[in-house]
Amino acid sequence: MFFQCLLFLFALSSLKAAFIANEFNWQYSSFYGSDKWEGLCSTGKSQSPIDINTTDVDTVHYSKLNFVNYDKNGSVDLNDNGLTVIVSGFDSWGKNQPYITGGSSKHEYELIQLHIHWSQHDDEKGSEHAINGKYYPAEVHLLHVKKGFNHVEALSQPDGILVVALLLTLGNSSKAFAPFEDDFKTMLLPFFGNIPESVENYQPKTILPSYTDSYYQYKGSLTTPGCYESVVFIVLAEPVSMTSYQLELLRNIRHYDPSEVSDNVRPVQPLNGRRVLFRPKTNSTKSKRSRKSKHVYTKKH
Ligand SMILES: [Zn+2]
Repeated sequence: MFFQCLLFLFALSSLKAAFIANEFNWQYSSFYGSDKWEGLCSTGKSQSPIDINTTDVDTVHYSKLNFVNYDKNGSVDLNDNGLTVIVSGFDSWGKNQPYITGGSSKHEYELIQLHIHWSQHDDEKGSEHAINGKYYPAEVHLLHVKKGFNHVEALSQPDGILVVALLLTLGNSSKAFAPFEDDFKTMLLPFFGNIPESVENYQPKTILPSYTDSYYQYKGSLTTPGCYESVVFIVLAEPVSMTSYQLELLRNIRHYDPSEVSDNVRPVQPLNGRRVLFRPKTNSTKSKRSRKSKHVYTKKH
């Protein structure tokens, strides 16, 4: 889904990226399905998504992620491009543009957009990433670009893009998707889905889980053509709640031809020797000592 989103951004900035011209015609099923995707999608060795085996990860003691300006409010656009729902416009927030620091990187990564993956019918098949073979009803990708690089340049960097993946689980809290609910309903109407809806006073913090300090990290790729291997993927360990009503709204979003609606989930890809890093939850009383003792985090509390 990333690449469709990037295409949208390219169009906005009037960039002509000729190399993407042959990547317009793809889908998640049928003739142009993911098993037919070409280029790095079929030849790459560091592809996303993956199934994370939590018994085979390397524990790391990176600093926690700082979600800077995620508590600011601003105007964003909600758009259904036929393949996903994209929330964009953060790059127009000026000094309030949300960004991430911390973790394994010394760089800042600026939030460009977020989008959603989900399944039409199966609660256990809507996420792209899996944890120990278990899938979730949906997954949000928060797409960040390395500060100082434009979107095209970032694709040529091994760490040009940072994606924070949120796993959605069904629960009582509707907070994460509440700002979009009304627009999800508008998108149900035929032919209105692809008209961007403006959401005022959006605060991106509302989509984050309560705890963001524990996460899995690995070297990955865009999960859509051309599958560029420029992505530091971070999957937060704590899932985010959405209601079954909100999931149903997502599933009812239509675009042009209802018969074309399908899942927007790429199957998990082989690790090919890559290691998944795990940053455990910070224990405030032991955080200083834990830097010296690598076993502190493995204890159960
Ligand atoms: Zn995505």
